[in-house]
Amino acid sequence: QRLGTIDSQGQGWYTIGQNFQRTEGASAMGPLTNRAVIRQVMEKHGFTFSKALGQNFIVNPSVCPRIAEEGGAAPGVGVIEIGAGIGVLTAELARRADKVVCIEIDSRLLPILAETLGEFQNVTIRNEDVMKADLPAIIAKEFPGMEVVVCANLPYYITSPILMSLLEQQLPIRSITVMVQREAARRICAPPGSRESGAISAAVRYYSEPRILFPVSRGSFLPAPEVDSSVIRLDVLSAPAVQVKSQETFFAVVRGSFSQRRKTILNTLSAALGLTKEELRPLLEAAGVSPGVRAEELTLPQFAAISDQLSGRAET
Ligand code: SAM
Repeated sequence: QRLGTIDSQGQGWYTIGQNFQRTEGASAMGPLTNRAVIRQVMEKHGFTFSKALGQNFIVNPSVCPRIAEEGGAAPGVGVIEIGAGIGVLTAELARRADKVVCIEIDSRLLPILAETLGEFQNVTIRNEDVMKADLPAIIAKEFPGMEVVVCANLPYYITSPILMSLLEQQLPIRSITVMVQREAARRICAPPGSRESGAISAAVRYYSEPRILFPVSRGSFLPAPEVDSSVIRLDVLSAPAVQVKSQETFFAVVRGSFSQRRKTILNTLSAALGLTKEELRPLLEAAGVSPGVRAEELTLPQFAAISDQLSGRAET
């Protein structure tokens, strides 16, 4: 076992296991979805759940195989996992994919993972914050020539920033399959122009085709969170869904439009962008958008048209 290799940034990264031939199914200590097994592992390593890090581990045995299957973990595929916990999803990914690189912020989990994932040779754990990880470099180094997917049971305190960071970096990945709070799943997957849509729905649709895969009840986790969850999959588009003159302006328009969602687009956007209503009204009209509508009624091409009108104005 190569444990405790330190990279040049001083962060630990670990390739786990050497005996890939061991029997399929549960690890030697018993299934990682078994509460008694989890308790035993936690006690042995003196581990306690961190609420701040969103540590709710999956104990429903049907959930992880389904995330792995529907998330595209398969021969020839490399998987990036965010947040290993005690490795319950990691193991299912490692059984199906060629290679799994897991980014886990909590160093207390490293000795546990060395034990629970001991049977896998194709798993690397990187002990770092996913928001600071150099994902393009990781993909280039770890998955050369491979199709790459992201699979995770996301820490809920940071769901949207992680998703937006993955999408905005325009990584060479095929899809992102993640467990999120059910409410967040609805918002993320809502088509722009629908009542549940928000800035995140428009931003996600710019980069990907999202859909809800299946629901997961709160009782499927240890400890049980206060809300139910859903697994969603975002299929990353080869090019953004709409062409815009400036992505920066497009996202400023999307964010600004939803900053006060009960107000009309004229009121909200003029406040958010620092324009007078007299300045904004003709731009909205030229974009084919009625100044009286609300952000949730706007489609992606309409946000793009407003954005391009603003970019055109800046150019003149
Ligand atoms: N995959 C495991 C499972 O399904 O049981 C654990 C999921 S738990 C909801 C979220 C995991 O993400 C925890 O292990 C937590 O320590 C880790 N985590 C939290 N914030 C993180 C961050 N910024 N970067 C990487 N991992 C993080």
